[in-house]
Amino acid sequence: MNFDLPAGIQELVATTRAFREERLDPLEAQFLRDGNVPWELRPKLQAEARERGLWALDVPEEHGGRGLGQLAVCAVHEELNKHPMMFEVGGAPEPALYHCAPHQWDKYFASVVRGERRSAYAFTEPGAGSDLGGIATTAVRDGEDWVIDGGKIFIGLAERVEFLILFASTAPELGTRGVSAFLVDSGTPGYEVVRTIPTMGDAWDPCELRFEDCRLPADALLGELNHGFAGADRQLGHGRLKIASYQLGIAQRCLDLAVAYAQERTTWGQPIASRQGVSFMLADSAVELDAARLLVYRTAWQADEGRDVRIEAFKAKLYATEMAQRVTDRCLQVFGGRGYAKDSPVQSFFRQVRLWRIGHGTAEIHRWMIARDLLGPSAAEGSR
Ligand SMILES: Cc1cc2nc3c(=O)[nH]c(=O)nc-3n(C[C@H](O)[C@H](O)[C@H](O)COP(=O)(O)OP(=O)(O)OC[C@H]3O[C@@H](n4cnc5c(N)ncnc54)[C@H](O)[C@@H]3O)c2cc1C
Repeated sequence: MNFDLPAGIQELVATTRAFREERLDPLEAQFLRDGNVPWELRPKLQAEARERGLWALDVPEEHGGRGLGQLAVCAVHEELNKHPMMFEVGGAPEPALYHCAPHQWDKYFASVVRGERRSAYAFTEPGAGSDLGGIATTAVRDGEDWVIDGGKIFIGLAERVEFLILFASTAPELGTRGVSAFLVDSGTPGYEVVRTIPTMGDAWDPCELRFEDCRLPADALLGELNHGFAGADRQLGHGRLKIASYQLGIAQRCLDLAVAYAQERTTWGQPIASRQGVSFMLADSAVELDAARLLVYRTAWQADEGRDVRIEAFKAKLYATEMAQRVTDRCLQVFGGRGYAKDSPVQSFFRQVRLWRIGHGTAEIHRWMIARDLLGPSAAEGSR
């Protein structure tokens, strides 16, 4: 196995690094002070990234994208996530949108690739997070329409996007086998963003949504009736590898900062880097980061080879997110009080990585899925 990224991906990473250094890094002090940058800046920055080719990376060329693979996508996100603002490359439709019917394609898929519209996905409810079988939001047929009633919670960016990919129960007696996906335009009567939910993270807060007698036309159904759960799994699977790659950039940035600081900060006349108590924290972090990087790159490479990486993506996200938690914690410790101050990027990363052991599936559910793969479904049932 060649351990260097292919030359084309190295060039893409160099382009991404130049964009980050020129356009994102100057915003870091403001981001740390205010917990965000003005929201209007993000689409502008995405448009600038687009001019450099950073747009619709893994969208097939015939659909207007760059047709790149998962290794390239991971390498770009690793580089971007050395900045704490959680900057996303635009133009990539959510995986569920690949199931758009011909009459939905232009409005919901192609418009995202063109950069005209954005979407959020909504599974989670107050009574259904890890266990999506508990979805209580219903979609009931009334003549030609679907009528949606219920509520969603922790839905990222719902107040900023043009439409939702909503998962609702169309056959409650069938549990997860009775869930379907719907396309819901923002502003549809009966659909309301109730509030944003303040969280411990910077950058953005998720939303609570309410649906009351919300009428959708028959053609709002996305994909097959009662097959939404499989779509949900694919939707989350795609995100897992990308989230794992975020952790590489986060941990690398924190480690680089901590290595530099440990050499410059002195106590009792010696740099703290000369103390084993400090240098071993850096050494452990470097080893774990390398291990995570190999796991993420290998999984991305397998995906590009056309293999099924469902379980490998669970492993990559599980290991990388827990690695990033340990590395950001150690790096913050190396900085002492300076690491805890609001102008330190390390404290922002430290808080941010906590999300990724929960969002897109928790670490415990990932372990359960990996155990199930090892032991067979019935032997691992005790984990349920
Ligand atoms: C900032 C943020 C953004 C989010 N964005 C979105 C979004 O855009 N769209 C969306 O749909 N959702 C989103 N979520 C929701 C997220 O996906 C859920 O929080 C997550 O799936 C966990 O569900 P839960 O919070 O209901 O926890 P629960 O499922 O209630 O779990 C609570 C705890 O119990 C553990 N647990 C549960 N069952 C088991 C088991 N069988 N074995 C062992 N342990 C178990 C869990 O691992 C966890 O530790 C977001 C959440 C946050 C915090």
